[in-house]
Amino acid sequence: MKCRTRSTAARTASPRYWTWWKRPARACCGRSRVQIRRAESLRSRNTLGIDASAAAYAEVATSQELGSALDVARAEGLSVLPLGEGSNIVLAGPVPALVLRQLRADTEVIATADDDVVLRVSAGHDWHALVASSLERGLYGLENLALIPGTVGAAPIQNIGAYGVEFAQFAVAVHAVEAATGTPLELSAQECQFAYRDSIFKGELCDRVVITAVDLRLSTRPHPEYSYPALAVEFSARGVPPPQPRNIFDAVVNLRRHKLPDPAEEPNCGSFFKNPIVAPEKAAELVGEYPGLPQYLQADGRIKLAAAWLIERAGWKGERRGPVGIHPGHALVLVNYGGGSGADVLHLADAVVESVHAKFGVTLEMEPRVYGGAA
Ligand SMILES: Cc1cc2nc3c(=O)[nH]c(=O)nc-3n(C[C@H](O)[C@H](O)[C@H](O)COP(=O)(O)OP(=O)(O)OC[C@H]3O[C@@H](n4cnc5c(N)ncnc54)[C@H](O)[C@@H]3O)c2cc1C
Repeated sequence: MKCRTRSTAARTASPRYWTWWKRPARACCGRSRVQIRRAESLRSRNTLGIDASAAAYAEVATSQELGSALDVARAEGLSVLPLGEGSNIVLAGPVPALVLRQLRADTEVIATADDDVVLRVSAGHDWHALVASSLERGLYGLENLALIPGTVGAAPIQNIGAYGVEFAQFAVAVHAVEAATGTPLELSAQECQFAYRDSIFKGELCDRVVITAVDLRLSTRPHPEYSYPALAVEFSARGVPPPQPRNIFDAVVNLRRHKLPDPAEEPNCGSFFKNPIVAPEKAAELVGEYPGLPQYLQADGRIKLAAAWLIERAGWKGERRGPVGIHPGHALVLVNYGGGSGADVLHLADAVVESVHAKFGVTLEMEPRVYGGAA
């Protein structure tokens, strides 16, 4: 299986990756049995609600079961597709792989120092549940990332982010196994090469590892971050004293509930396109022509543009193409209104990309990953 995102140059694997091996491959005897289901429908396992099947499907709760599942995939010549909640994928057709869900959802304190607490969290843990339970325990930092759907194991893949905060700010290490061999790997946060909606797991290690746990550094001392415009407005409007982590958590949950369509009612996978980052000259040219264009200066001097603004100005907000369309309230969200296929979704996405490029000369890149069907 190849790593597929749209409008992205193909990336190749680097031998550097082998240097992260920490232990020799395990012997393949004494493994627990794991149930492999065949031709399993993934319709209820992706938030776009696309009906596509997996050649093989397994749920694993222990490292032994994970090892057994990888043995089966190897023996049958199947690639492995780790799946969380399916909230950031597009299924373009049948998936010729062993789709693997991890059920383990433990949380363990592995280190403390001054105000810092390092948690090790298993990949199968629900992300929002982690944010909420950390807050309850007086471990702060993740509040701005409340209500992002999905699992902890998927969070490093695109370095999830929202309301001015990213996963990378808390990452200490990512634990994984190499899908082809079952060999354990441990990557430091630096080795993960986190960037805006990007990491090594979308590059050199794309579709090559199964993340089993992440180590996150949280703090017992609140560091409320509310400079992001939507939060700043929320707190200045209420005229409250500086917000506490609980206030930020509540505000983020409220904002998200009002702003984003619920996939259970309007199947979607969140923001469908990344915000494009362009050279300052290109941004200046566009602002000359479109004075209202929002732009955000990046640390490297380039300018991030708002994909939603570009898509709306290109006339796509609320547009439908058969069973799929662009949400009328949020131009970044592509919705499957019922019975839409992966091809329907990708055709609409291509049409949006083409028209934004024709109008603004900016190429949008898809955020979700594409699996199954023809490339
Ligand atoms: C309504 C909505 C709002 C959203 N808002 C945001 C937001 O604010 N910010 C943001 O960043 N994202 C957002 N997203 C996207 C999504 O929630 C995140 O990308 C999330 O991390 C995906 O988690 P998942 O478990 O559903 O991953 P999946 O969709 O199941 O998988 C996504 C990718 O990660 C890989 N993967 C999953 N688990 C593992 C693992 N254990 N090991 C290796 N690879 C793995 C998969 O193979 C796939 O390539 C939103 C999505 C929705 C539907």
